Amino acid sequence: MADGSTERDARTNGALEHPRQGRWLAFRGAELLLTDTGTLPAGDALAALGCLPLRIQSLGIPPEAGAGTGLPCHAAELPADAEPPPGTAFTHLKRLNDHLPDGLRRLAARALELIEWDRAHQFCGACGAPTVQDGDAKVRRCTDPGCGREHYPRVSPVIIVAVERGDEILLGRSYHFAPGFYSTLAGFVDAGESAEEALHREIQEEVALRVRNLRYFASQPWPFPHSLMLGFHADYDGGNVVCAEDEIEHAAFFHIDALPASLPGPSTIAHWLLRDFCRRRGRAWPPA
Ligand SMILES: [Zn+2]
Repeated sequence: MADGSTERDARTNGALEHPRQGRWLAFRGAELLLTDTGTLPAGDALAALGCLPLRIQSLGIPPEAGAGTGLPCHAAELPADAEPPPGTAFTHLKRLNDHLPDGLRRLAARALELIEWDRAHQFCGACGAPTVQDGDAKVRRCTDPGCGREHYPRVSPVIIVAVERGDEILLGRSYHFAPGFYSTLAGFVDAGESAEEALHREIQEEVALRVRNLRYFASQPWPFPHSLMLGFHADYDGGNVVCAEDEIEHAAFFHIDALPASLPGPSTIAHWLLRDFCRRRGRAWPPA
């Protein structure tokens, strides 16, 4: 599969002679290649694919690499038709997340976001000229001397909020969720908007409620493709739940003792928000 365009792309990144040492976070779309024992492929494993990666980004020697620390790690984008070598498999990162160690999950998120940034910034968004990367620095510079704009990895903030009303919590489901699945509400921060303003606006738009007493909780990168989830707790302040027909299939306040059966997995900030809500009321969640 090493056609001309593949070679050109790799050469653009100075990575045609791709490094053989270290561990690979190799993606086919958002699917990560792992060995059958759940480890990152190492060394020449990618060559066994019989094709060059479309692009490679150095991840340095991250402490998150787990077993085999001390080795450099590389993010690689594989062609859409890449087949896994024997003893390996591709799995979508969303399905893997709950099963990966924390460090590897963070590293995989960074790898996937850097690949997306590299792919999406081959040309300058201001003038259209090609861009080049300066070594391993995570910036692509426009080659037009009259422009020279620098393009850094994009991060898009998203607020995600657990609205509490006594022992109840607001949960909703989008049309694309699996049957029966509920989560906390979330939405992108708009241009020129603070996270707090975005939260008030999203809750008003999606379920027509007013909230107060916003408390920042935690954040989480969500690399599909480059979100940063900003988690808040908030208190109900008024209104009746009216779902935005184009976005929310159903939303309601659920009592702490009657939560939906299908909720976000333990690797997600939505899960952490729910767990914190329950712990503050003396409940273990998820129930043992
Ligand atoms: Zn430019």
